[in-house]
Amino acid sequence: MENCVFCKIIAGIIPSPRLYEDDKIIVIRDIEPKAKLHYLCIPKTHFASFSEMDGEKAEIIKHCFEKIPALAGELGLQDGYRVIINQGENGGQTVPHMHIHLLGGEVLGDF
Ligand code: AMP
Ligand code: ZN
Repeated sequence: MENCVFCKIIAGIIPSPRLYEDDKIIVIRDIEPKAKLHYLCIPKTHFASFSEMDGEKAEIIKHCFEKIPALAGELGLQDGYRVIINQGENGGQTVPHMHIHLLGGEVLGDF
């Protein structure tokens, strides 16, 4: 998708080290971390948000949720972490390419 920052990362146009990659997803560090450790799990398929969810896209999100616990240890999240999806304007979503935030590496406060 033209002008999508995450599509550009996936295409290698914007450099961002991939901590994990398979045929469906990548995991990168958030450029503006909101916790000691802050990662983004990003589907390689561009879709904006939950509002575009269908069976095929739900399979990709399911894949993320299967991979996240398996990756938590090597990402330094073994003591726990927070999983966040910001949906739409009121949800604070700033990048309209579906992604899952993983925050941890410290005790997280309320927000
Ligand atoms: P959201 O506000 O839920 O849409 O989250 C978008 C996230 O993407 C924010 O936490 C940004 O810091 C992060 N972000 C934006 N551009 C980049 C980038 N080039 N590399 C890594 N993370 C990014
Ligand atoms: Zn995109």
